[in-house]
Amino acid sequence: MSYESIKDPKEVKCRKKHGCAWCGEKINIGDKAVSRAYKFEGSFLSDYLHPECWGALLDTDSLYLEDGFTEGDQERGRPLDQDR
Ligand SMILES: [Zn+2]
Repeated sequence: MSYESIKDPKEVKCRKKHGCAWCGEKINIGDKAVSRAYKFEGSFLSDYLHPECWGALLDTDSLYLEDGFTEGDQERGRPLDQDR
């Protein structure tokens, strides 16, 4: 896998609706979200996450993120754990 951050993730107020990349739930207009831009397997990508989902991602051991994670497949605000 090759993950490369393009710019530092930052907290933004959404001007459009987005789906959270972590839990798949909606992020509504005016809600806070963490915006990130990155390169994965050679493609430029960007997505939005709930602040608590971003925290969950940071709390997840990088071992589990090596192959990336399935968008929308995680529980909101919950790190991936070893039982999965
Ligand atoms: Zn989320």
